[in-house]
Amino acid sequence: MAVVPGMSELTAPFWEAARAGRLVVQECQSCRQSWHPPLPRCPHCHAAGLGWRPVSGEGTVYTYTVVRHPTHHAFADEVPYVVALVALAEGPRLVTALLGVAPDEVRVGQPVRAVFRDVAAGVALPYFEPDAGRAAAQRGSLGGLWPAR
Ligand SMILES: [Zn+2]
Repeated sequence: MAVVPGMSELTAPFWEAARAGRLVVQECQSCRQSWHPPLPRCPHCHAAGLGWRPVSGEGTVYTYTVVRHPTHHAFADEVPYVVALVALAEGPRLVTALLGVAPDEVRVGQPVRAVFRDVAAGVALPYFEPDAGRAAAQRGSLGGLWPAR
């Protein structure tokens, strides 16, 4: 059994984009700020004129936790897994799960990028996985500052 998020008229553009393998965030047409999750009004200037903008899908791990006890029986075979708050390159942060990385290998500041997985008919969820290319570039530019592991 797949557990899928609640979807509404407000969030439909986000889920439609995810189904197409794209990540979008809301953007205020007045002050040009963007954010996630979707809201009925701009959280910065309270304007009602909102749109959607595509984002790159690149981000960094802002913080994370390792889930070791399933919160739903559908996740019993998934534990342990990593739930992260990812800071998108464009600014907004979103809660997601990290794929392709062992829980003890996750680091705050780690470069990640969005990937999409079909979890039910017509439903794709955005997840994030380590971005090896950006991690290598980060090590190169900070190589003298951080000790080798
Ligand atoms: Zn605004």
